[in-house]
Amino acid sequence: MAGEPQDDCLFCKIVAGQIPATIVRETDTTVAFRDINPQAPTHVLVIPKAHHKDAAALAAEAPQLAADVLRETQAVADDEKLDSYRTVFNTGSGAGQTVWHAHAHVLGGRGLEWPPG
Ligand code: ADP
Repeated sequence: MAGEPQDDCLFCKIVAGQIPATIVRETDTTVAFRDINPQAPTHVLVIPKAHHKDAAALAAEAPQLAADVLRETQAVADDEKLDSYRTVFNTGSGAGQTVWHAHAHVLGGRGLEWPPG
């Protein structure tokens, strides 16, 4: 069911503390942790604690939670003292999504080109 923890989900395991992560922020509904394979000096993932498979599902199933995630991306940027940063939701394998638990990438600390690859 939407929102329920999934046994085979890496990010549900991070939420549950079953897999280590470098957590930089936590709220009642979200966790933010450093990406294990950083693509910029700051590369933090913000996730809802509840399991939703991607950003579109999150927005449809739990819009308030989607807002919580977005609010936390700005909080990460503030903590990291980023004036400019990029927030990315990869949705679908064609866009590079590999973990099927909604997450916002917060990237900053270097110049970012457009369009992305
Ligand atoms: P992609 O792998 O193409 O970036 P996603 O948008 O699904 O696809 O992002 C998943 C992200 O999760 C990747 O940036 C990956 O480095 C990161 N990641 C995978 N495992 C861990 C982990 N154990 N701790 C922190 N980040 C992780």
